[in-house]
Amino acid sequence: MAEPMIECEGLTKRFGDFTAVDNVSFNVEPGAIFGFLGPNGSGKSTVIRMLCGILEPSGGTARIGGLDVVEQTDVLKESIGYMSQKFSLYDELTVEENLRFYGKLYGLRREALRKRFDELLTLTHLEPYLDRRAALLSGGWRQRLAMACALMHEPRVLFLDEPTAGIDPVARRELWDLLFEFSGRGMTLFVTTHYMDEAERCSNVGYIYLSKLIVCGVPDELKMLPEVNPPGTRRIDVTCEHVTLGLQTLRHRAGISAATVFGQSMHLLVDDAVSDERIRGYLAEAGIRDVDLRPISPSLEDVFVALTAKHGGGTE
Ligand code: ADP
Ligand code: MG
Repeated sequence: MAEPMIECEGLTKRFGDFTAVDNVSFNVEPGAIFGFLGPNGSGKSTVIRMLCGILEPSGGTARIGGLDVVEQTDVLKESIGYMSQKFSLYDELTVEENLRFYGKLYGLRREALRKRFDELLTLTHLEPYLDRRAALLSGGWRQRLAMACALMHEPRVLFLDEPTAGIDPVARRELWDLLFEFSGRGMTLFVTTHYMDEAERCSNVGYIYLSKLIVCGVPDELKMLPEVNPPGTRRIDVTCEHVTLGLQTLRHRAGISAATVFGQSMHLLVDDAVSDERIRGYLAEAGIRDVDLRPISPSLEDVFVALTAKHGGGTE
């Protein structure tokens, strides 16, 4: 087994009386795309800032590539890139000027800077926009430029804090293609996101809720956990008219739990004692017909919901 690239043990951050990150431990293997999920305010950015040596932990330890994030911050900064939620691009500068600025900031000399500049242009396809001011780039291209800037010093690990927030679906997909390309070159990626479809693309995921890491692992393995698949239950997708009404009708019935709407359908966790016919019957009482039922496997969202409930959280 390779040495982990990122190792946290009991990582904790307190702001006064408030514990923003509570005893968080996990490892990330080299070359992984680690997706870090959790609702707003759960501590994702705080974890990243501790890992990048910007914020000192109140407790616990963290190492990246074997370097202690507190004791060896200066060396550490050479091997990590950090694209924060509000990454500072210089709006008045062009794409080229931004890249050169960051290259110099990281101490790249003329030759090294030119070489890296060319490499990143090829990798990120920013070439046609070289002379465009950063202010005039679309959301997706802006994020691409920010990424390229954070990569000028060729870090082994790249931290991206919500890189796809607020950009359109096509740009989002293109940005992910780029992340896969980075990962294919051996880079380790640590990405926070709110989007479940992005989580599904990660090689490993962690879910943080109210400052505590609820679960961490490989998506397909997490979906097989017994907590997610309680014995004597099944998951089904119900497609029907008036899904929201259907949800109201079903969600408080005995033997039906974890009812959520997914687009045109709803996902239910149902006791085996409740037959498909019974579900059709409940819906018919509310005037809903043309009901289509089919078994499904749990999604990552189901995993997070199930495990949050088990840890005493959840909204119901
Ligand atoms: P996330 O990135 O998951 O949205 P954050 O890590 O930004 O969450 O924040 C976690 C919690 O810590 C929030 O309640 C936030 O208000 C609080 N917090 C973050 N930074 C500070 C700070 N410098 N001082 C006090 N509270 C903070
Ligand atoms: Mg954040």
